[in-house]
Amino acid sequence: MKNDILFQESIQRNTHKITKVAVAKGDGIGPEIMSATLDILKAAGANIEPEFIDLGEQVYLSGNTAGISNDSWDVINRNKLILKAPVTTPQGKGYKSLNVTLRKSLGLYANVRPVSSLHPFVKTHFPNMDVVIIRENEEDLYAGIEHQQTQDVVQCLKLITRPGCERIIRYAFEYAKAYGRKKVTCMVKDNIMKLTDGLFHQVFKEISLEYPNIKAESQIIDIGSAKLAANPENYDVIVTSNLYGDIISDIAAEIAGSVGLAGSANIGTNVAMFEAIHGSAPDIAGKQIANPSGLINAAVLMLAHIGQLKIADNIKNALLTTIEEGYHTPDIYQSETSKKKVSTQEFAKEVISRLGNTPKHLVVSKLTQGSGEMRTFEYKRKKANKVLVGVDAFIDWSGSDPKEIGDALSKINAYNLKLKMITNRGVKVYPNGLKETYCTDHWRCRFVGLDAKIKKTIPSYSAIDQEQVIALLSKLHSGGFDVIKTENLYEFDGKRGFSLGQGE
Ligand code: NAD
Repeated sequence: MKNDILFQESIQRNTHKITKVAVAKGDGIGPEIMSATLDILKAAGANIEPEFIDLGEQVYLSGNTAGISNDSWDVINRNKLILKAPVTTPQGKGYKSLNVTLRKSLGLYANVRPVSSLHPFVKTHFPNMDVVIIRENEEDLYAGIEHQQTQDVVQCLKLITRPGCERIIRYAFEYAKAYGRKKVTCMVKDNIMKLTDGLFHQVFKEISLEYPNIKAESQIIDIGSAKLAANPENYDVIVTSNLYGDIISDIAAEIAGSVGLAGSANIGTNVAMFEAIHGSAPDIAGKQIANPSGLINAAVLMLAHIGQLKIADNIKNALLTTIEEGYHTPDIYQSETSKKKVSTQEFAKEVISRLGNTPKHLVVSKLTQGSGEMRTFEYKRKKANKVLVGVDAFIDWSGSDPKEIGDALSKINAYNLKLKMITNRGVKVYPNGLKETYCTDHWRCRFVGLDAKIKKTIPSYSAIDQEQVIALLSKLHSGGFDVIKTENLYEFDGKRGFSLGQGE
């Protein structure tokens, strides 16, 4: 495994170097919480230099449907680091989501969301929760490849790649090592999706061996999310694919009571972006009552990312101390427990006055207890022996009796390529299906080489070639079958690269 990965370089971390940051003040409460956050960064001696960029509502309304100007792209490309306040996407005129544009254009493959409880200052049932969710951000069902194939059936392609898995899983282990975390939990559903989630799990097992000092565990996503919701204190770092990560990061933030207080990082190979997880809150904009904690937490993540761990810990601990001592913006103010209701800027001043303090009740931030080093790796593809052994032809057919289509297809012989089985919605219906199985108009018909044998329950396949597939398609077409797509069946290094039908 190690040979596949070429160790590239450690991320340059120089705590004394001034790092330029593209700063977007955002819309709604954005300018207020950004001003509060920048005051704190300055007072804490963060070695950063903000360079302001224009993006969001005004840029959209000027006719730029992407919501970001060319000048802003130049600053981002130069600085490679973005601190972004929330923006407002105007509704209903085909404006593209700026976050999706930034994430996709900049290749921000990892979404990192630390969630910790602030009990009893922010209501939660889980006083000791301190979890970091690391979500793959580019692949999975979010690739947006969807098709309607028949009148009854639509599909969405779930794409999981080895380089994508290696990158996010390595990121999770490197993150744990860099910031002194002890355990990484992988969440997948590989009991069902044996190839896609199976790959994610397999790569997790391989990479975990390279980090013997970090505990590695795997859970099935359904029971894993239930356990996370019931006992979040048992989790440390969680790594998962895009859709599962989207769901569990919201569950985690919700049960911590901190949806309005969490920050997140979007990490790419060259660029990283940091922001609060909440939106631009237009309902309270301009009133100086917004809580800047989410953006302050995002700034803490940014400082850690560029290696300014001490300053990050200092700001985070001052923030926790301020909350612990009862200085609260209206969203978390409780008359029985809070000491003073403060404005956005007053809150920032309270945080600044507590720089150097550590909280007495809340979990102290100790980013410095890790190595602080995050290495990056380059993917090296190993050459596999790929052999074509069959083809799945998907046919749109409005009949209802599998025997009828099965018997007709069995008569087709394309240079020894013969029908092996038919499934409908993944369940085998021919030969020997059950009459109870409901059938739609979407029939997956598997053709394999004639000399393929069935050894007990494990089929053994023989190599075929593309000419046979083309001949089959031609015969299906002339036989009046409406083929809506095909999927080639391959073996890679002798291992089956496709799933069996349920009941096959
Ligand atoms: P929102 O998060 O802006 O607001 C939801 C509720 O939470 C509101 O009542 C708001 O007042 C409150 N709230 C949010 N942040 C707060 C804070 N820091 N302090 C105190 N209260 C806070 O969600 P929404 O209303 O659905 O969205 C408003 C706008 O934000 C929309 O245009 C949406 O597209 C945009 N948005 C942007 C981002 C982003 O830029 N990353 C993320 C989500 C939503």
